Amino acid sequence: MSRTLIHGAQVLVGTGDFAEVSLLIDGDRIAAILPKGETVEDAKDLDARDRLIIPGLVNGHTHSHGALARGGVPDDAILETFLAGSAWLNIGRSHDDLALCAQLSAVELIRKGCTACFDLFIELPGPTVAGTHAVAQAYHEVGLRAVVAPMIADQTIYQALPGLLEAFDGPLKDAVASLSLPDWNSTMAVCAEALRHWPVPTDRVRPGVGPTIPLHCSESFLQACARLSEEMDVPLQTHLAETRMQQVMAQRKYGTSLVEHLSTLGLLSARFSGAHGVWLSDPEMALLANAQAGISHNPMSNLRIGSGIAPVRRMADAGVAMGIGTDASNTSDGQNMFEATRFAATLSRAQTIDSAEWVRAREAFNMATIGSARLLGFDKLGQIAQGWAADLVFLDAGYCHYTPQRNTLDQIVFAETGAAVREVMIAGQMVFAGDRMLTLDETALRARAIAAAERITHANADARVMNAAAAEVVKGFCLRNCAAH
Ligand SMILES: [Zn+2]
Repeated sequence: MSRTLIHGAQVLVGTGDFAEVSLLIDGDRIAAILPKGETVEDAKDLDARDRLIIPGLVNGHTHSHGALARGGVPDDAILETFLAGSAWLNIGRSHDDLALCAQLSAVELIRKGCTACFDLFIELPGPTVAGTHAVAQAYHEVGLRAVVAPMIADQTIYQALPGLLEAFDGPLKDAVASLSLPDWNSTMAVCAEALRHWPVPTDRVRPGVGPTIPLHCSESFLQACARLSEEMDVPLQTHLAETRMQQVMAQRKYGTSLVEHLSTLGLLSARFSGAHGVWLSDPEMALLANAQAGISHNPMSNLRIGSGIAPVRRMADAGVAMGIGTDASNTSDGQNMFEATRFAATLSRAQTIDSAEWVRAREAFNMATIGSARLLGFDKLGQIAQGWAADLVFLDAGYCHYTPQRNTLDQIVFAETGAAVREVMIAGQMVFAGDRMLTLDETALRARAIAAAERITHANADARVMNAAAAEVVKGFCLRNCAAH
């Protein structure tokens, strides 16, 4: 194992403040935090003068498939019209396309200071072992830490939402009614095999279970997901109370709230996390907290597709384990964890002038690091401390964000965009430096992405037209049903 001594930088140590210390990296861990000036025999020297070193940001929720969907989601989309209107972007993708998306996504995340993500990627009509393994292999090669969970469901949106199909008529009704997803037993069998024969070491890239949206999954299916998560001891994540429509439909479908439904089915545990949680009630937050479950707060996506402002203060105070995510680059539209962290801090201020209720800069930063790491199920990740993962982001201390430099962490949370990111280390390995990725050829990646996007756009032109027509009907259905509540 090679050892590296990083010296000369200001380092955000533990839960404290910045200090001029040296970091001894041994393999994939921070072996020691040493006083400034101390030397270590046999350690490679890394001069980090003019750098601020922070733990890498951890993305609690994203979808790599969104990387090839940029610009494909209409400006006026809400979640439900996005689901109905954007299916064409995800059909007919090869395993190479899935891997390409993971690479594109990983490059964007790393360039913007993120070192780990929870990826709910989609493969249609259902997941395959080879597709799932292609995504895992891609992250392994790029060097990003990740939880890879195929996003799975056994009901289309037209089957999932009571009354939606009845809102259609004519040939369009026949078209959406004929859509279906694979039987959940076969989907679970694929997931179990993919997880049991994981293709890469699990120190950096691990599997997860990803039921898309509870409304889109039958009860037996959700229970099977929970069993697999428990048996394999892997995290389970689903979209939870992302929109008001989901809670309205849960009452109609189950006669109860979403979290009560999941609690009754036995899904809640410390391995469970929900994405968004915009429309959670206090009793639902209590259920999540009692189960030690978590929520990934995804403010940029919530704003872009009009889902609302999540009650972060209430969730955190209730004891829900909070992380922060970007959501995918189709609904966000850039996977920038610095921006997501800033929104987590600033949006809370739009809700009250009582600063005691605000999400403070340190709290937001903690959510975006150790908080999200907890949702991913990684121990000793998200903080610079002895024995913790050597996942580090090096910021340019001379950049305008830090001139002058007074309250460095506040300046990072409120001003950083990723523009000052100069180097990124993951598991002790430098993956980004000198404004380029060190683990793949970005020029070749871009050429592949453009070719794949053109192919997908042309091949799915008919589906695109049908999806757009369906989205209009879904939009009216959502407006009528949400207005009635
Ligand atoms: Zn999502």
